[in-house]
Amino acid sequence: MPAPLSRRRLLQAAGTTAAATAVGPLAAGSPAAGSPAHGATPAPVRPDVGTLAFPFDLGRVRLTASRWLDNQNRTLNYLRFVDVDRLLYNFRANHRLSTGGAAATGGWEAPDFPFRSHVQGHFLTAWAQAYAATGDTVCRDKALYMVAELAKCQANNGAAGFGAGYLCGYPESDFDALESGAPVNGNVPYYTVHKTLAGLLEVWRLLGSARARDVLLALADWVDRRTGRLSTARMQAVLETEFGGMNAVLTDLGRQTGDARWRAVAQRFDHAAVFDPLAANQDRLAGLHANTQVPKWIGAVRAYKATGTTRYRDIAANAWNMCVGAHTYAIGGNSQAEHFRAPNAIAAHLANDTCESCNTVNMLALTRELFTLTPDRAELFDFYEQAWLNHMTGQQNPADPHGHVTYFTPLRPGGRRGVGPAWGGGTWSTDYTTFWCCQGTGLEMHTRLMDSVYFHDGGTTLTVNLFVPSVLTWAARGITVTQTTSYPVSDTTTLRITGDAGGTWALRVRIPGWTDGAVVGVNGVAQDITATPGTYATVERAWASGDTVTVRLPMRTVVRPAPDNPNVGAVTHGPVVLSGDYGDTALSSLPSLDVGSVRRTGSAALAFTATADGAAVDLGPFHDAHGHNYTVYWNTGGLASVRIANAVGGLVLGIQDMSTADGGRALLWTDSGTADHDWELVPDAGGTHRLRNVHSGKVLGVLDMSTADGAAVLQWSDNGTADHRWTLQDLGDGTCTIRNAHSGKLLAVRNGSPAVGAFVVQDADDGTADNRWRVLR
Ligand SMILES: [Zn+2]
Repeated sequence: MPAPLSRRRLLQAAGTTAAATAVGPLAAGSPAAGSPAHGATPAPVRPDVGTLAFPFDLGRVRLTASRWLDNQNRTLNYLRFVDVDRLLYNFRANHRLSTGGAAATGGWEAPDFPFRSHVQGHFLTAWAQAYAATGDTVCRDKALYMVAELAKCQANNGAAGFGAGYLCGYPESDFDALESGAPVNGNVPYYTVHKTLAGLLEVWRLLGSARARDVLLALADWVDRRTGRLSTARMQAVLETEFGGMNAVLTDLGRQTGDARWRAVAQRFDHAAVFDPLAANQDRLAGLHANTQVPKWIGAVRAYKATGTTRYRDIAANAWNMCVGAHTYAIGGNSQAEHFRAPNAIAAHLANDTCESCNTVNMLALTRELFTLTPDRAELFDFYEQAWLNHMTGQQNPADPHGHVTYFTPLRPGGRRGVGPAWGGGTWSTDYTTFWCCQGTGLEMHTRLMDSVYFHDGGTTLTVNLFVPSVLTWAARGITVTQTTSYPVSDTTTLRITGDAGGTWALRVRIPGWTDGAVVGVNGVAQDITATPGTYATVERAWASGDTVTVRLPMRTVVRPAPDNPNVGAVTHGPVVLSGDYGDTALSSLPSLDVGSVRRTGSAALAFTATADGAAVDLGPFHDAHGHNYTVYWNTGGLASVRIANAVGGLVLGIQDMSTADGGRALLWTDSGTADHDWELVPDAGGTHRLRNVHSGKVLGVLDMSTADGAAVLQWSDNGTADHRWTLQDLGDGTCTIRNAHSGKLLAVRNGSPAVGAFVVQDADDGTADNRWRVLR
């Protein structure tokens, strides 16, 4: 950043919120777009472009007893408790109004904190969502009171010496400084304006408040005047300072009002230095402040939906692919010391300040946006579940009745949740002395936990993306869906369909990429439908009220290696990351896990034991790892590598061109000592092994999970599919067969060729010599 001393170095933290992104496909008055159960939502004037899936309004999905409902209730306790007059202190003081005797707040809302008045917008959003989701009138009334008081602040701008519409907790001169290229040390002015705009938009949308609309439009008008007079070059320089999701919220304002002017203002916040490489699909994220970027990506997908300009869609989709594919830890979070590191640098950055939670809240919002464009892409919600369950559920302290949160989620060995930035105490958030970014986004997250469980297509198809105890009221069709499950403790969920269920329609269920052998049943009868991992299974039938769908997603316990070090990995069981419980013991390095020793100790809970560093250790779901030191990553190395020689000519198994890419072909080669000839036999379920290439870190699998004779054998990321498991059977003569657990075929050589470079395939168990191998230890 150009500032002589950036707020990052000064404060060691900050972040942003998700943009207001709820979408409805249909025109005003349509029951499907309808109003939430507890508010009057003005329908957006402009429909979105390219949207194929639509969430339900918050009031239509109700959480029932579960960890998620507990989280929601703790956050509701805090939202109901907090003193609005204290939250108004900085606004009133800055706009020259009486603070009414309210005590000032602390942390990032202290009266001398550079970007004070960022958190109030988060509260507005959270209160509005809480009312929409649960009908909590205390939250509604707090939101409306704050908006009324903010209107008074805005109305006093003449006396305060500010331009019309201005609304901040610090002087307008901070924007003069920003525009002159010398921002006030530590301030990120448009970051705070974004929060306020987004909060006001939600109060307008979810509570139907005309006053919120008017305050919002006045502040947005101020933004237009302020930015409209800057040259493009000057505006791009302004964008070097973190600005949250200004592009997103202004685009959404255009959607809500139908006024094209707001898209034009939003476009001024297109940050070329970030967007251009993303449009070209170049990963230049390393070194960037992570959460400064994610809201811009959300703004890009919102801009696509507003304009149909595919460059915006590509920016967002490419950013998602890069972030999830190369910058994300096993728990679904990203960043270390708030910054992106080199692509795939994961094991190299297992620190105390990993995974700022704002980033994940925003990645979830981005994921949801992309899903509505490409609802067949199951990997989107595989990631959503991974991050939502392992990172965000555990962000909140279950021992705190106000649901306070951790800012970072440490991934160093011996880490413990409850790590905040120094300004604000350094541990858990508090009622009045922290007010960090992650606290604000946490309030938003935990009042919309239900918003992505179900989607519809605007017609008759219903999609189930998450497995959470909940009740969906599909008002447009008069259907109620009641989901009952103890998932992920159990691998099964039940969906009971009641109401006007009659007629033929389709129920789509996400079949996660990590499962194997998923079964979908209706009224106790297994359905003859495709349930391939990493896709959606569709049950289309003539339904009747009372029909019950069961979805079983078998879970396996596997090690997920870090992309930069195949000897470091996290243990997962289905979607759940398991962590080791080390009590109060400090760890100086990653424990060495005996991978084959991991055992589940009962079916009533996700309780496991294993041996690490020669001692027994208990493992449990990471989202429940509170109040003790843990390790998420383990040293899983120590497996002796082997070479695998074909019985025919003695050539060894290697990878074509020593590729490290997914899809690199397995072939035979002279035993020349290159590292791609070394393999680790990683123990897996049922006595099977994965064959992990020491050079690439990838594991051996079959092209497209084929079950056909002659199908190519190749290396792939260790993503847990069944074709990655092999059974070695000793034939007693120094050779063995290597049988694929998915296809039942044997590892073999194409046409039985003994030649250097012959491709390795799977083949029928026909007794030919090329089906036999020697493991050279
Ligand atoms: Zn944050």
